[in-house]
Amino acid sequence: MSKARGYAALKPAAPLVPFSFDRREPGDMDVRIEIAYCGICHSDLHQVRDEWSEGLFPMVPGHEIAGRVTQVGRKVRKFKVGDLAGVGCLVDSCRKCPSCRRGEEQFCDGPLSFTYNGTERDRKTPTYGGYSSHVVVDEAFALKVRAGQPLERVAPLLCAGITTYSPLKRHGAGKGRRVGVLGLGGLGHMAVKIAAAMGAEVTVLSGTASKKTDARRLGAHDFALTSDPKTAARMAGRLDLIVDTVSGPHDVNAALGMLGVGGTLALVGASPKPLEIGAFPLIARRRAVAGSLIGGIAQTQEMLDFCARNKVLADVEVIPASGINAAYERMLKSDVRYRFSIDLKTLPGEEC
Ligand code: NAP
Ligand code: ZN
Ligand code: ZN
Repeated sequence: MSKARGYAALKPAAPLVPFSFDRREPGDMDVRIEIAYCGICHSDLHQVRDEWSEGLFPMVPGHEIAGRVTQVGRKVRKFKVGDLAGVGCLVDSCRKCPSCRRGEEQFCDGPLSFTYNGTERDRKTPTYGGYSSHVVVDEAFALKVRAGQPLERVAPLLCAGITTYSPLKRHGAGKGRRVGVLGLGGLGHMAVKIAAAMGAEVTVLSGTASKKTDARRLGAHDFALTSDPKTAARMAGRLDLIVDTVSGPHDVNAALGMLGVGGTLALVGASPKPLEIGAFPLIARRRAVAGSLIGGIAQTQEMLDFCARNKVLADVEVIPASGINAAYERMLKSDVRYRFSIDLKTLPGEEC
């Protein structure tokens, strides 16, 4: 065992505080990664506040991990000491079920080991996430990060990047496709950059007027303010695909009205409260609503390689570990441009 330092919520909705815990020694197939940066995903906030289900506490959140390999097990082939590496939302799966065999480990029949708020394969040992000094993970669930990349800007790709890349790829976001991105936060800004890099014509659909200039800078071609009464008429039927990243209850029917015949709304936002969908916005133009959950390990690597090739990185505000609670509050006000990235060098020392 080695001592890890991190930040944890000790009970549901508690502010995060310094916390130390044990990590296993690397086994034959494991790599030990010194974490340089970890992004803050809105899912961290949902889980710390226990908005989804019964969370496991103490909880060390964080599934947008980027760092450097400091130790490798005897049988590790993919990594050597000194390599850059990332870890996303998954640290293991059954590896045998149809989904795992298809490379869609996120849909594993179970048990699935989430990076935090879950358990290891023994179904007992809690997993702890990336708001911490280091992580030990099977090489099969660690991703390769190209040398020289800025880790603070790569970290958010491990969740926000793959969660938007996957539905964009599945539902088509290439040349000639008109893609809307609903909610310009961490996921939304990655959706804009990735869809633009895929060749789509991108429209940001946001409730925050001041994000308009950013939308252009991020690569969007158009911006529509969702609270503007004129938006519904201007955008009616104009889009082929909408990636809906909104974190709370919102008007999905208004978004559906912006889709043309056969258009799809791909929902990735994980509102803790049910969303209301009217029959007519769907049946009137044969529209569809689809869900999407992160992405498998192979596709996550494909996304990292795509982003490296196309110079796609997250726009981040780097914060010290002591700033996590304040960052959560800002996130709740949609005040994030566009991902907080925690500098793990700022963790308190061994005494905590
Ligand atoms: P975020 O950075 O907080 O961004 C969410 C954005 O949605 C906000 O910036 C805001 O954008 C808009 N918004 C927030 N609350 C709203 C409301 N009540 N009504 C309308 N718009 C609202 O969050 P994130 O990290 O991108 O995560 C977004 C959601 O995706 C969360 O629910 C998260 O749990 C979920 N998620 C899902 C997956 C998956 O696999 N499906 C993976 C990661 C995260 P504007 O200011 O532009 O309106
Ligand atoms: Zn996430
Ligand atoms: Zn499985």
